[in-house]
Amino acid sequence: MLEVKNISFSYHKKTVLDSIEFNVEKGAHLSVIGESGSGKSTLLKLIYGEFDLTTGSIFWNSQEILGPKHNLVIGYDFMKYVAQEFDLMPYITVEENIGKFLSNFFPKEKAERVNELLKVVELENVAKTKVQFLSGGQKQRVALARAIAKQPEIILLDEPFSHIDNFKKQSLRRSLFNYLKQKNITCIVATHDKNDVLPFADKMIVLNNGKVIANNSPKALYNNPKTPLIASFFGEFNMIEPFGILYTHQIKIVEKSNYKATVKASYYNGQSYLIEVLYNNKSIFIEHSNKLEEHSSIYFKTLQ
Ligand code: ADP
Ligand code: MG
Repeated sequence: MLEVKNISFSYHKKTVLDSIEFNVEKGAHLSVIGESGSGKSTLLKLIYGEFDLTTGSIFWNSQEILGPKHNLVIGYDFMKYVAQEFDLMPYITVEENIGKFLSNFFPKEKAERVNELLKVVELENVAKTKVQFLSGGQKQRVALARAIAKQPEIILLDEPFSHIDNFKKQSLRRSLFNYLKQKNITCIVATHDKNDVLPFADKMIVLNNGKVIANNSPKALYNNPKTPLIASFFGEFNMIEPFGILYTHQIKIVEKSNYKATVKASYYNGQSYLIEVLYNNKSIFIEHSNKLEEHSSIYFKTLQ
């Protein structure tokens, strides 16, 4: 189990993380979310032992994670970290990069393992290509494969799909997260994409102003987002008194109700329209199956 015990950290005088505390069970998948600059990457670097903590401690089972002051070589064999900026060897091929840290004593096993990893990150077709000729997204996939090559006990992924286009993202995400689950590898993912979280994470923590403001299952936080910040991570929402936070699908247009509004605009999004209506001079956004005429009157009800 990973135990993060009351840690704080500052760059120079600026406090980035303040009294952070949480645990991750062996084999579990934790998502770390928060706005840009909220300290997600810093937290992963601290767990990796890249910096010295100001206060607190971090343990993987009985092993304390030590920073550079107390640990000559940064990092531990049981842990892998894929940074937002990945460093690969540009002048050797994809398969050589992936196999870089695998033993050469058993060439047949090594080749099989590299093939297995190429499959997980869907790079079989560029196995023999030099990394310098790859796109950003392909490089990111090489970095992911290299990190899982020598099965770690715990892996830290910093926005792991940020360079990968939407065509590939969905299947790669399933492939990688299913692989980690199947091998019982503990996984911590910093992300701002709900699709990394809702289908895969056991737990999620939300960072804001240096603190953990929520720590729960994604489902619990989705169904009961306590703050606008948490709701905004999951999708577009409204704040309507006296109902509180309502996602756009939690408001329905009906034939008659006590709530009358005027249509301002319709935005097509593929599976439905987002209708903007004015209610008490405030915009409300409602998911609806059709486009509605501008300036027409509608009634709505809420589903909570
Ligand atoms: P996130 O990954 O959530 O975007 P970061 O952990 O990268 O956030 O950054 C948190 C805060 O720390 C930001 O205000 C950022 O500017 C600052 N910061 C990050 N790295 C450094 C650094 N090496 N030196 C000084 N400040 C830094
Ligand atoms: Mg970051």
